[in-house]
Amino acid sequence: MVYARITKPARARGEGPGPTGWPAARARLAGLPGGGLNIAHEAVDRHVAADHGAQPALIWLGREGARQVFSYAELAAEAARFAHVLRAHGIGPGERMFLLAGRVPALYAATLGAIKAGVVVSPLFAAFGPEPVRARMDIGGASVLVTTEAHYRRKVAPWRATMPGLKLVLIIGEGAPDGCVALGPAMAAMPATFETVATRPEDMALLHFTSGTTGLPKGVVHVQDAVVAHAETGRLALDLHPGDIYWCTADPGWVTGMSYGVIAPLCNRVTMVVDEAEFDLDRWYGILERERVQVWYTAPTAIRMMMRAGADAARGRDFSALRFLASVGEPLNAECVIWGQQVFGLPFHDNWWQTETGGIMIANTPDMDIKPGAMGKPLPGIEAGIVTRDGAVLTEQPAGQIGELALRPGWPSMMRGYLGQPERYAKSFAGGWYLTGDLAMCDADGYFWFVGRADDLIKSAGHLIGPFEVESALIEHPAVAEAAVIGVPDETAGEVVKAFVTLKAGYEPGEALERDLRGHARARLGPAVAPREIVFRDSLPRTRSGKIMRRLLRARELGLPEGDLSTLEGDAR
Ligand code: ATP
Ligand code: MG
Repeated sequence: MVYARITKPARARGEGPGPTGWPAARARLAGLPGGGLNIAHEAVDRHVAADHGAQPALIWLGREGARQVFSYAELAAEAARFAHVLRAHGIGPGERMFLLAGRVPALYAATLGAIKAGVVVSPLFAAFGPEPVRARMDIGGASVLVTTEAHYRRKVAPWRATMPGLKLVLIIGEGAPDGCVALGPAMAAMPATFETVATRPEDMALLHFTSGTTGLPKGVVHVQDAVVAHAETGRLALDLHPGDIYWCTADPGWVTGMSYGVIAPLCNRVTMVVDEAEFDLDRWYGILERERVQVWYTAPTAIRMMMRAGADAARGRDFSALRFLASVGEPLNAECVIWGQQVFGLPFHDNWWQTETGGIMIANTPDMDIKPGAMGKPLPGIEAGIVTRDGAVLTEQPAGQIGELALRPGWPSMMRGYLGQPERYAKSFAGGWYLTGDLAMCDADGYFWFVGRADDLIKSAGHLIGPFEVESALIEHPAVAEAAVIGVPDETAGEVVKAFVTLKAGYEPGEALERDLRGHARARLGPAVAPREIVFRDSLPRTRSGKIMRRLLRARELGLPEGDLSTLEGDAR
């Protein structure tokens, strides 16, 4: 179905984004007095120095109902104390610190404090079990871990003796088991200022592991210079303005929660809301309403969960503070964009990026008309293209053709390597492009449309079928909450399309509904592309960052090895 373009009124504020491009973005940052660059300095210290110390930086909402507000000055002081703790224990610049904790205030202070001290930060999901934690810390060469006592006892203590390089374990709170240091008293004993280490733009700052959607997670290296892109893309793609109330729902255990849940918002001097709890419809609507959230950055999974509950669940709420909604992480079905308009009075703005790009590359910005279902256009400073590969030869494709989404390297938050995998890193570049592994199409107006991951493409009777198109058609049906589509082998067609769907409340699985769904899909997509088979599921396997794991559906379907499941959400393993 073709959705009408959503046109944007001229800006109420009467202001555009101002000068763009990396030199202008760089000029908006302060830099260190001695000429270096440090993410934490840009995120907090320079705002305090400019007399904004009293502004709330972080509104923390505890799982059990606590609400704590930290000003920029308080956050800067906590970060400084943390940096001193690292130094007092002999931890120096370039060493790697891992985070294994839920969304608690100490996590934010530790992140900023470590970066101030030149120590590399690598966040993990708190829900990881012992083995994924160990494996990542091993790859990363961890010398410090910040965690809680419960996580430590269950996930780290059993193997700690095998990792002699792990010199310091800091336990959030007032006490600590043997061999660990309690963070509360350690920080309380330290001064509230710390002279930021004179890090240089190319010094490693962050180590992020990918979501593991397509295979074993990769350790992606980012440097201090990434802050130029974090700050600028937050401004351009998320419309962040100083003083805004902003909520990014992503966990800092994956890249969105760090780039846009810590760094970009603080660099743009917004007040960020952090919720410790997991998704809960009522709670989320309550947060948007009570905290008067203005800018909201979330993910298609969450949006589809809200849609599943129905628009009625949102009725009577006051969402009048909202100004800008954005989504990332998975393809955003056109249906979700429209739903935003119906329920919040605003469309969701899709944007695309990946751990490797460190920041948003393609986006629907505030001033752009939205074509529902499209990811938007490359941001200023980003050149994107669609290419096909034939051996070593790369051919750029014209508008309307499907190919691999490629980017011209050179933006500040581009990864500087896959840790320990130089060949793999080298293979991501060809013909002057960085190859993303995603398939897309660019239309005549310059909008990019996601087709699927290269691994997920289905080849059926000479057609190339992107799962996203089929999934989007399926969720247009009133009964369908979510859909995942894979190719299964077929003697005549090579592959045929098989769909897995979950249903909205009030619908029951059954033959009649399957027939109806297949008819709906055929009418929308034509018989060559419509799923041959549709099965009903209570839930779909997804990563902890909320991405549907089609590779797992396919492996289970074909009886193949399931591969790495460390990032699989819930108990489905
Ligand atoms: P792995 O690389 O380990 O398989 P992953 O690619 O899921 O995992 P991330 O870097 O967290 O790890 O996710 C980036 C990927 O998510 C993108 O390459 C793309 O496939 C998908 N993605 C992100 N945003 C969008 C979007 N707006 N539309 C479509 N897909 C998106
Ligand atoms: Mg990837």
